[in-house]
Amino acid sequence: MSTTDKRVAIVTGASRGIGKSIALRLAGNPASPGGGRHVILVSRSAAPLNDLKAQITEAGGTADVLACDVADAKALAQGIEETAERLGRLDILVNNAGITKDGLALRMSDEDWNIVLQTNLTSAFVAIRAAARSMMRGKFGRIVNISSTSGVVGNAGQANYAAAKAGLLGLTKSIARELGGKGITCNAVAPGFITTDMTENLPQQVKDHVLGLMAVKRLGVGEDIAACVAYLTSDESGFITGQTICVDGGMTMC
Ligand code: NAD
Repeated sequence: MSTTDKRVAIVTGASRGIGKSIALRLAGNPASPGGGRHVILVSRSAAPLNDLKAQITEAGGTADVLACDVADAKALAQGIEETAERLGRLDILVNNAGITKDGLALRMSDEDWNIVLQTNLTSAFVAIRAAARSMMRGKFGRIVNISSTSGVVGNAGQANYAAAKAGLLGLTKSIARELGGKGITCNAVAPGFITTDMTENLPQQVKDHVLGLMAVKRLGVGEDIAACVAYLTSDESGFITGQTICVDGGMTMC
């Protein structure tokens, strides 16, 4: 028996940036596709999530906070399973939490390789495994993995990050095939250059270069990604699965 009529959505890395935009969009306007969800806000520390929950509540939405390090597989799985148990349902999972530890491959430490793989890729697998049983029970599920254009076309200085983000694409397609018959879709969104804390410290030269590659001639914002995620997690997107959508202003067109 579920304790809420709303579809329940877990968004990892919701404290800021793209994850925050996704959480606000999913918790927002119930009349727009993908809106009106009860959103579980996941990130390492509770304080920014509590602020976001207050913002969502003030706007008429509902949310809960789950403070958890996604690189801690046991804690992540337990948090997701307990949430599904408590609410009696889990419909949507957005694996968005991610980090970078950039450097040339030949100089990259094992630590920087491992933590990026654990945080960006393994956490998504762990979260999907923990969430899938509830989705199967409800005969409905929408999983979106936030990859990157670096995972699609590669990027010098990001061997760890690009490998993790490319790994997400294989994970996405395999889960789509395994769970498609249960009413569960799994897709990937690959952002290009989005203005967030993750990218703000990059040199202006790099930003100008990226801008030059974009067909739409502007850098992306979190809401650009959130709009795509809202559709892919909506009830009406059930025939789209195993796809990677590059939301990158036409930078890669792949
Ligand atoms: P950000 O650094 O602004 O936010 C990352 C979020 O993930 C934060 O909420 C952070 O607290 C959370 N997080 C990181 N490690 C965590 C951990 N171990 N446990 C729990 N939470 C953790 O980054 P962003 O720019 O908003 O990026 C969000 C996602 O989009 C990432 O997966 C990133 O790789 C991807 N992406 C971003 C861009 C971009 O241009 N910003 C481009 C392509 C892909």
